[in-house]
Amino acid sequence: MAELEGLEFGKSDFVLLDEVTMEQFMENLKLRFDKGRIYTYIGEVVVSVNPYRQMDIYGKETIEAYRGRELYENPPHLFAVSDAAYKAMKRRAKDTCIVISGESGAGKTEASKYIMQYIAAITNPSQRAEVESVKNVLLKSNCVLEAFGNAKTNRNDNSSRFGKYMDINFNFNGDPTGGHINNYLLEKSRVVQQQDGERNFHSFYQLLRGGSDEMLKSFNIQNDPAAYVYTKEGAAIATSNNDRSSHKAVMNALEVIGFSKEEINSIYQILASILHLGNVQFESDGESVQIRGLDAVNLISDLTGTDKEIVSKSLLYRTVATGGGEVIEKGHTEHEACFGRDAFAKALYERLFGWIVGRINAVIEVKDYNPVLHGKNTVIGVLDIYGFEIFDNNSFEQFCINYCNEKLQQLFIELILQQEQAEYQREGITWQHINYFNNQIIVDLVEQSHKGIISILDEACLTVGKVTDTVCLDSMDTKLAQHPHYTSRKLSPSDKSMEFKKHFRIRHYAGDVTYSVEGFLDKNKDPLFQDFKRLMYNSANPVLKEMWPDGQLSITEVTKRPLTAATLFKNSIVALVDKLACKEPYYVRCIKPNEVKSPVLFDEARCRHQVAYLGLLENVMVRRAGFAYRQHYTRFLQRYKMTCEYTWPNHLMESDKEAVEIIITQHGFQDDVAYGQTKLFVRTPRTLFTLEQERTAL
Ligand code: ATP
Ligand code: MG
Repeated sequence: MAELEGLEFGKSDFVLLDEVTMEQFMENLKLRFDKGRIYTYIGEVVVSVNPYRQMDIYGKETIEAYRGRELYENPPHLFAVSDAAYKAMKRRAKDTCIVISGESGAGKTEASKYIMQYIAAITNPSQRAEVESVKNVLLKSNCVLEAFGNAKTNRNDNSSRFGKYMDINFNFNGDPTGGHINNYLLEKSRVVQQQDGERNFHSFYQLLRGGSDEMLKSFNIQNDPAAYVYTKEGAAIATSNNDRSSHKAVMNALEVIGFSKEEINSIYQILASILHLGNVQFESDGESVQIRGLDAVNLISDLTGTDKEIVSKSLLYRTVATGGGEVIEKGHTEHEACFGRDAFAKALYERLFGWIVGRINAVIEVKDYNPVLHGKNTVIGVLDIYGFEIFDNNSFEQFCINYCNEKLQQLFIELILQQEQAEYQREGITWQHINYFNNQIIVDLVEQSHKGIISILDEACLTVGKVTDTVCLDSMDTKLAQHPHYTSRKLSPSDKSMEFKKHFRIRHYAGDVTYSVEGFLDKNKDPLFQDFKRLMYNSANPVLKEMWPDGQLSITEVTKRPLTAATLFKNSIVALVDKLACKEPYYVRCIKPNEVKSPVLFDEARCRHQVAYLGLLENVMVRRAGFAYRQHYTRFLQRYKMTCEYTWPNHLMESDKEAVEIIITQHGFQDDVAYGQTKLFVRTPRTLFTLEQERTAL
């Protein structure tokens, strides 16, 4: 409770605000941030503001203070929700999940790491070796995934460029026995191009700056990111991470996780191949296209264990099957060759990343599990996934990410309401209906079959012939013109942001986003010439071969259209939501206080915007419309029995429930509460304030 901390730190639970207004919400949030209180509750939801400085609140003593305690017994903290999730899992055998959301740089990944550290610290008191080893792999996996999946962006020096959901499995003792990681939509376009001021994935710079001389020599690469097209832009950009020491840490983590020497070498060979690939240049004499200088090609062939001739050929030609079933080789234009090279580089990296995740999963997979012998295997899931994105120029990636956020927002509202309802039902208390914005309509706009945007995109991708992005946009405009959350460019000729005629706008729950349709079809089709797949499948390196099983198909066998990027993403998000929906959810809502990574600046407008689109006010209202506060009778009694002569020091009633009724009635609060089976429900915070004041005045 807020009172535990003292009111000078503001209210530690937003449901205790006198009035639920944006002004009061912001005032409280700012006050707490200024006072170094970065966590605040909304019921069981933790609102976290990135402190942008090291806080002394994650050490051993803090962990001990939160261990096994109830949410309201200590000041708000990630550890308290982690413990609540853990208790639900251990005591009630409930699968739980902790969903962390917020925009880039808001502190999601840091939060997920503290949560994992907490869980690791409070489990396996008997130090059993196999459990320790699982914990170690789980913790070390962060280091590896961050190296390969994070990059410096303009928003965050260590921005996760993929979504991550990690399940941690527990045995009946409550000790971790394994886990599983799902990764979502790695931003692979970054491999070949970065925006001004941004870098490629950390892994490249770590290799170039931290790789041993021997390693660099064997890969024939220089220790200079400026020497490679793909890393050149980011070469001079300073970051807070030290690439050299990070490289050591990653190598160590890979070893601890159980990657073999050959596997580790293969990982870096692939990175080096990608760097060389980026340096492949083409030239055209007007008739045919050639590779300018074959050094890079030779190096790629050596590093990937493939034939030099075939590498060159794959870069310059594609094999196509004609209508009559004939197989011919078609030379690329210079533009096609560049496109193919970059698509290949992106695919190499994406598959490498997927393979690394798969290898970690193989190590932490729960083995030899027998439910009869071992009892129920319970799970805590931790979701750290990209938040809502509104940039100046929004493309296919933002479209996917924002769709994902719509899905998660919907789940949030549903689960929070459902949870409330379930609790009232369990406790035998009448529930009053609450109105909230149901964003199903936006989810449908995107994902509905036949009518939704993804369907229209897919249809355009499947159409043979020259369907351009603009033609696809026309089709969307026609089919979705009537949709209240879709704005066609034609309908708003006066709108400046739409004047480029290549845009459409979605009214998301978090705000309006205008998307540029340029590149949508290519990104959705995500084409990669079969020649590259076959090249990799025929590699002498078994690790590489394993990553490209689809390369064994010959061109005439590749008849079935692969699923599009948007559909694959949709399927993975639908599966994720299904997974989350059957777990008891805990939420961490992260807020980024300013754009300049300052520990002292609370940018009111930016924070207000985030509070609005995270739906935090709605959240408080939902919580308050019912009963803001609830407590088990025994605990309530422990805390407030001294405020009533009939209960102090001990009561003579038949049950704690009756004793609590006496306290409440004596204070005249009977109209403000409801008595559940096991808990007291209090409607307004004032009741508790008064009780708390009396308690401290004694
Ligand atoms: P993205 O979506 O880009 O991955 P994110 O929400 O995961 O962003 P983080 O990488 O967790 O953001 O945090 C960004 C930076 O903010 C961290 O590198 C760290 O410097 C700082 N930070 C975040 N949370 C904390 C914290 N609890 N204590 C101290 N610093 C923090
Ligand atoms: Mg992150």
